[in-house]
Amino acid sequence: MTTKRTQSRLDAYERRYRALAAQLADVGYIASGSVALRYNQCGKSNCACRVDPSKRHGPYWLWTAKVDGKTVNRKLSEREARLYQEWIANDRHVRELLTQMRAVATKTTQLLLEEEPGE
Ligand SMILES: [Zn+2]
Repeated sequence: MTTKRTQSRLDAYERRYRALAAQLADVGYIASGSVALRYNQCGKSNCACRVDPSKRHGPYWLWTAKVDGKTVNRKLSEREARLYQEWIANDRHVRELLTQMRAVATKTTQLLLEEEPGE
């Protein structure tokens, strides 16, 4: 039998869980990896970028991510970089929400197990 007090805690966890799930449903596109501004040295042996760090080319927006266990780099346009930054932030938000949902689920499980009559 579930006591009234336990039931109200279970209801509260349920509401919290549903609220987190609703936030999850509202999240926009997601992307893995990170975006950063980078300066590059080119391949020309006589270019100033080879000797003077301030003459390096760029800056370029570079997206870096692990794809199938391999690190992948891709140069991005300004517009792509902005989208990726937004989607990467969404990705982080999704992971935070999942962490919170797992925590609520764990508390719920503990409460349910405490309530179960010993066998
Ligand atoms: Zn160069």
